[in-house]
Amino acid sequence: MKIALVNIGTILSGDWREPFVAGDALYMAGGRIKEVGSVPSEDIEAADLVVDVGGMTVIPGLIDSHVHTTFGDYTPRQQTVGFLESYVHGGITSAISASEIHVPGRPADPAGLKALAIAAQRCFQTFRPGGMRVYGGSVIMEPGLTEADYAEMAGEGVWLAKVGFGAFEKPADVTPQVRAAQKHGIKVMCHTGGASVPGSSPIDADDLLTMLPDIAGHVNGGPVALCDKDLTRVVNESPIALQISQAGNIRSAVKVVELVEAGGYFDRLLISSDTPTGTGMMPLGVIKSLVEMTCLTGVEPERIIATATGNCGLIYDLDSGFLAPGKAGDVTIIDAALGCSQETALAGMSNGDIPAIAAVFSDGIPRFVGKSRNTPPPTRKISIVKNNVPASYGDETYHHCC
Ligand SMILES: [Zn+2]
Repeated sequence: MKIALVNIGTILSGDWREPFVAGDALYMAGGRIKEVGSVPSEDIEAADLVVDVGGMTVIPGLIDSHVHTTFGDYTPRQQTVGFLESYVHGGITSAISASEIHVPGRPADPAGLKALAIAAQRCFQTFRPGGMRVYGGSVIMEPGLTEADYAEMAGEGVWLAKVGFGAFEKPADVTPQVRAAQKHGIKVMCHTGGASVPGSSPIDADDLLTMLPDIAGHVNGGPVALCDKDLTRVVNESPIALQISQAGNIRSAVKVVELVEAGGYFDRLLISSDTPTGTGMMPLGVIKSLVEMTCLTGVEPERIIATATGNCGLIYDLDSGFLAPGKAGDVTIIDAALGCSQETALAGMSNGDIPAIAAVFSDGIPRFVGKSRNTPPPTRKISIVKNNVPASYGDETYHHCC
């Protein structure tokens, strides 16, 4: 499918260093972004679908780097069916598993842990709820797993691991497993802060600085935060990626952004939801955190958006997160919500308003065009100029095309 977006008001690249792309058009073909900024008229003529964006803001599809997926589009923790499809209506085009910890009766023995991670990885290889790409299969570290086990899992395609729930006597006892996993290319995310649920332990700065995981999961607490002294140490004394979560402590999240700004560590900053959890299933979890960190810290929205797009793509080695030729055709269109006191989505974010999400494309396929089920409608009007795709994309309803 070839798709041209025209009459774009603002294009964000996903790169916080150069957040804006000049021009007013974007072209996708074969699931990939081909051109950003200016698109030759022959490509627009050849497109199957041409969407007049009406001056709205086009950003990379959001990546939620902390989602508690299990199997299928179902969360046992909140007993909700269809939550991932609903997250697409929150602008999210990729979700990264924070381990399948919510699987009822989850195994804790090495054979069971490996089987769970491999099965979860396999089950999301082609399953795209609502069009969302899900990176499933994050092995839960428990006593008994060996380097050979990590090598085997890595060979089977598992590339994510989670620390923070296992039956280790001291959190730092897991360090040899963290190194073994990292040696085989597995990205390790560690729980940060107070215990989250019965059976988990608090993890403080000493633990993190010993373990040196790749990502400090919910560094602002999940939901209970580190003390400020420990938080400052994790930011200033380690290279660990710093993942803020909606389900954490908002005061601590603001402190993370301030420390990151003061230290020049913006490449390490991620914003995620850490849902579904006790906090709920939150389709707008990521965009709400993006708005909160923009309006509460004064950091420009175009840079904050990079924490759930380009930064995430780089930290997790994904081919998405940027609006640039060759990247995945993952695009979210946002606008100032109807009635917003500000003119644009970005000005609205600085004002504390959640933007309207007017369309989402993933893998170069329209998932909905017009308005999201989960946000207010946009101020501007998006319209279909041409559509040769065998499905309709009206303004009033959304349709799946595949
Ligand atoms: Zn979590």
